[in-house]
Amino acid sequence: MAEGISEAAFEEEARAFLEANAEPRVEVTSLVWGEGSDEVAVLPEKSPEEEFSELEAGRAWMQTRFDAGFGWISGPEAYGGRGLGRSFQRLYNELESGFETAPQSAFGIGLGMVAPTIAAHGTDEVKEAYLRKMYRGDIVGCQLFSEPEAGSDLASLQTRAVQDGDEWIVTGQKVWTSGAHLSDIGEVMCRTDPDLPKHKGLTGFVVDMKAPGVEVRPLRQMTGGASFNEVFFTEVRIPDSHRLGDVNGGWTVALTTLMNERAAIGGGMGGGGGGLGTQRLIELVRHQGLGKDPLVRQQLADIIINGRVAAYTNLRAMAKVAAGQLPGPEMSLGKLTLTANMLRTSALLSTVLGPKLVADSGEWGTYAWSQAILGVPGMRIAGGTDEILHNIIGERVLGLPKEPQPPVPVAAAR
Ligand SMILES: Cc1cc2nc3c(=O)[nH]c(=O)nc-3n(C[C@H](O)[C@H](O)[C@H](O)COP(=O)(O)OP(=O)(O)OC[C@H]3O[C@@H](n4cnc5c(N)ncnc54)[C@H](O)[C@@H]3O)c2cc1C
Repeated sequence: MAEGISEAAFEEEARAFLEANAEPRVEVTSLVWGEGSDEVAVLPEKSPEEEFSELEAGRAWMQTRFDAGFGWISGPEAYGGRGLGRSFQRLYNELESGFETAPQSAFGIGLGMVAPTIAAHGTDEVKEAYLRKMYRGDIVGCQLFSEPEAGSDLASLQTRAVQDGDEWIVTGQKVWTSGAHLSDIGEVMCRTDPDLPKHKGLTGFVVDMKAPGVEVRPLRQMTGGASFNEVFFTEVRIPDSHRLGDVNGGWTVALTTLMNERAAIGGGMGGGGGGLGTQRLIELVRHQGLGKDPLVRQQLADIIINGRVAAYTNLRAMAKVAAGQLPGPEMSLGKLTLTANMLRTSALLSTVLGPKLVADSGEWGTYAWSQAILGVPGMRIAGGTDEILHNIIGERVLGLPKEPQPPVPVAAAR
């Protein structure tokens, strides 16, 4: 039975918890040039030690929060949630954003994509085994979808799962798996029937990332860090109880994850410039003596306006989710508006900083922006590329004709 608590009483309880356990966030309304950190990276470069200590700090906060009853407010009580409505979760999130808490980015994919998929398609055994631990920060989850020959065309994936009694034996390769090196479990999408049409022969599973036969190899990205990986599966055994949804029903499961991914990327960054806050941009333009340049002002205004539009688009999409409706093409629109604005920001930075972007002179707040610019292309690819999202909006929102398919090779057509 969910507790009968009013929003006002809940707010009081949450505020007391936050005040006792975290410092209020100091609102930055204007930057003083040269003071504080000039870290603006989109996919920051971190050493394994930095990643690990950040993970542990995030975990400690999540455990404290969960044990106080604020870790999974709208989740079902049967699996460790508090059983309150989504409005309570929103209320808490809003309150917590006013406090300094440890970064929880290592848990983002697990909570943003894998946990909602487990909640929607997992067996009771899997829900019991993992959901509580995920929301408490005890374990980290990753998403094992992309393969060397299957990215945008995810349904072409070839990682094979063959049933052997009560188990499945998985062999194949995944790539671009963010956070696999930190993960305890993964949502892996496999081909279970190669004779069925490609969207119909797939099945999803929850895999133990420490199981024999799982090998994780880091990939270095152009921002300098190595936040994603190649993952090799060699005859990895997964119990049938860890299957997500029906055998060969994996496409539905994958869509649940992908829609949540777009919501997490588009919504999680406020829809504006993401980490590239406008206040910082304004200060940068001023400091470089371009505050009165009409073209730069126009570029800056464009970013601010589009940031607002993107934020409102995301709020609309979030409201739909909050009302219990399935996330739809709005999520694609939200993600696209965010990345389009990031691209505008990159263009402004190039105009304003010119050679200071590529030569490290040691001047505060200049070369550091190269880390932001190098991370932006990744955001345009992750969670559905810009081109794929344009296709979705064209076809499913505007009702335009489907894009032409390549001709079927003669041999395959026979
Ligand atoms: C930062 C980052 C994190 C990631 N994290 C994960 C993760 O955790 N787990 C995971 O499984 N994957 C992850 N990925 C992989 C990501 O999902 C894929 O990179 C993405 O789906 C694109 O696939 P691809 O790289 O194979 O490119 P491709 O699909 O080969 O596309 C190459 C180019 O062709 C274009 N293109 C392809 N098809 C069409 C079409 N029909 N119409 C028009 N243009 C088209 C694309 O837009 C792109 O420009 C991550 C990627 C990034 C950048």
